[in-house]
Amino acid sequence: MYKRILLKLSGEQLSGEHESGFDPKIGNWLAQEIKQMQGLDVEVVIMVGGGNYVRGAQIAGHGIKRVTADHMGMLGTMMNALALTDVFEAQGVRTRCLSNIFAEQVSEPFVFRLAEKHLQSGRAVIVGGGIGRPYLTTDTAAVSLALEMECDVVIKTTKVNGVFDKDPEKYDDAQKFDTLEYQRAVEDPSIKVMDKAAMGLAMEHDMPVIICKLSPAGNMSRVVSGESIGTKIS
Ligand code: UDP
Repeated sequence: MYKRILLKLSGEQLSGEHESGFDPKIGNWLAQEIKQMQGLDVEVVIMVGGGNYVRGAQIAGHGIKRVTADHMGMLGTMMNALALTDVFEAQGVRTRCLSNIFAEQVSEPFVFRLAEKHLQSGRAVIVGGGIGRPYLTTDTAAVSLALEMECDVVIKTTKVNGVFDKDPEKYDDAQKFDTLEYQRAVEDPSIKVMDKAAMGLAMEHDMPVIICKLSPAGNMSRVVSGESIGTKIS
């Protein structure tokens, strides 16, 4: 049983049934999942992505500097963090949004002790702004935050239920790994489920990463209870 988890949610997941933007329906659904985990006395820290708005690497160019593009990406993650916080609170999940970029008018800043206090008070903590620096993604920010907050595990939810030897949406005979060693996850170019920088950081500090599907309802509670779902990289 994990007591404190870092949940990494991608922007694409937060756009739910839409092509981009934030879908409150998925937010409502997630609120129930978080409530269920909190009912098991699990403390939840969430790092949100921003790919439903902007991915820096994709929009840089034609005069837009990479740094600026990444700033825009970080602002996208803030939009998700703010929306998700409101939806959670509306569903009765006590939540605080903390920002890793300067945004005093819209959120409290991320401060380690503040985050710790919110978690101990039974609140979910949602972090926006990634790690606050360009040339990074929210995967790396998620592992770094998990280390900082002494989480037991990083759970990254994806469309498919874990890591496969080939794309399961294209190949019927794709085999799922129940477990995987860091070394392979870092070195094998066909394993693209998480940024290599993030994987390397997890390996260096022995932070386990579980890749699993967000649905069906209750999936994450089963993962935090120790059921073998998805792929555990350790
Ligand atoms: N980003 C950044 N630094 C960070 C985290 C994110 O510059 O610490 C920027 C980067 O441009 C990234 C974008 O924000 O592409 C959105 O994050 P990400 O691509 O990780 O979102 P996801 O794919 O998980 O939705």
